[in-house]
Amino acid sequence: MEKILRLIKTFLLWELLQGLAVTLRHLFAPAITVQYPEEKTPLSPRFRGLHAQMRYDDGEERCIACKLCEAVCPAMAITIESAEREDGSRRTTRYDIDLNKCIYCGFCEEACPVDAIVQTPIFEYHGEKQSDLYYTKPMLLAIGDRYRDDILRCKAADAKYR
Ligand code: SF4
Ligand code: SF4
Repeated sequence: MEKILRLIKTFLLWELLQGLAVTLRHLFAPAITVQYPEEKTPLSPRFRGLHAQMRYDDGEERCIACKLCEAVCPAMAITIESAEREDGSRRTTRYDIDLNKCIYCGFCEEACPVDAIVQTPIFEYHGEKQSDLYYTKPMLLAIGDRYRDDILRCKAADAKYR
């Protein structure tokens, strides 16, 4: 009986008909294509995008040049140089992230004791040459200043899971 069934299925091109049925089903289903960039899919507050350096409310930069992020970075993408300021505090004189090397693992953000280096929800950026993706301290601080509200909103939404 099984052999006969198999024979009938072979003559009817059964697998082909099954495939066509799937095509037919999807032909009339509503399209799920997102018309990017006009339309966007929801983004998790945990999304790890472009980096930024943050400041305190009084404008003072958070980073204390402890170099933990540099040490933990598996891609060795972070380069830090530091010096002591006149008031005795230590601050970075150079803080570079080479985004050509970065693997967006988030370890730098996890390691930072003062929430200075963060990853933002920004993913729409590009470089036309390698040096365009070399982000310096002023660039990272500028991103933090410009997107401060968005960054804080994401961190607040994710806070209870950290
Ligand atoms: S996200 Fe990961 S790879 Fe990128 S700079 Fe931070 S620690 Fe390094
Ligand atoms: S960003 Fe954070 S972890 Fe990195 S040097 Fe500054 S304070 Fe330390």
